[in-house]
Amino acid sequence: MTATRIDGKALAAKVREEVAAEVAEVGALGLATVLVGDDPASDVYIRGKQKAAQSVGIDARDIRLPAETSEEELLALLAELNADDAVDGILVQLPLPSHIEEAKAIGAVDPGKDVDGFHPVNAGLLYLGRPALVPGTPLGIMRMLAEYEIEPKGAHAVVVGRSNIVGKPMAHLLLQSHATVTICHSRTRDLERHTLDADILVAAIGRLHVIRADMVKPGATVIDVGMNRTDDGLFGDVDPAAGERAAFMTPVPGGVGPMTIAMLLKNTVAAARARRAAAIAKSAG
Ligand code: NDP
Repeated sequence: MTATRIDGKALAAKVREEVAAEVAEVGALGLATVLVGDDPASDVYIRGKQKAAQSVGIDARDIRLPAETSEEELLALLAELNADDAVDGILVQLPLPSHIEEAKAIGAVDPGKDVDGFHPVNAGLLYLGRPALVPGTPLGIMRMLAEYEIEPKGAHAVVVGRSNIVGKPMAHLLLQSHATVTICHSRTRDLERHTLDADILVAAIGRLHVIRADMVKPGATVIDVGMNRTDDGLFGDVDPAAGERAAFMTPVPGGVGPMTIAMLLKNTVAAARARRAAAIAKSAG
């Protein structure tokens, strides 16, 4: 690959160091992760998040509930965590078992403790360009762009994928940074007409190598969010051959993935700081 490799693993380590310093400054900080059921992939994600949180000194509570947990029981637990002063951040691992409505669970988390940034209040604040807890994946991508001095301002950014957790918040963050943003999805006609015009191309599709090398503009920055597990390993949405045309490109694995967890830790600190500031303001006023 001739493109500069955007090293998410190294950058995530740097972010974790920053967070560790912040944790030392803020004081005791709590994150509660909630996993319902025993989905093996979710178990791996939760263990990764727990380990990362503990490594920076965050008190990480690993709450596991059986798959048959009712919606009411989950909502009652979330209400308890919302009220628990030792908990600064709450994360409900998705997907939830089908008998639990995800939107209800997400909506039951205190927006101030919503370190995944999935609550409608945070999504709305992001939409309005106001301070919000923002999902870790797009937040991590913005940090990558900043670190490699890739300027969104004035650039044409094309986001392929419109999910609530990646595509849409990504598009809003790029827009806030003054990019001209195009959002593509499964019904987009002539996808390559759009991707070929992208200075910054973010692929968040979840389909192996949908973005071929010849769909990438020479000199573009290519961010590959996709995580497609095959018998041969983990691959992205972008054909690695695109690295011959791009100027910057993230690898899979070792690109966006590690940054997502690092930004979750950043969000936990941000949530804790905001809650402490609000408590001080309340006691003063
Ligand atoms: P979703 O399935 O929720 O969304 C996928 C999006 O891709 C949809 O908007 C869909 O369009 C669009 N799409 C599907 N097929 C095509 C196509 N052929 N051409 C253009 N657009 C298409 O996925 P997520 O956003 O949750 O995740 C996307 C990928 O990113 C997955 O591989 C996931 O595992 C990975 N991921 C990685 C993370 C990380 O930390 N590295 C974190 C989160 C996700 P439509 O809306 O029309 O259906």
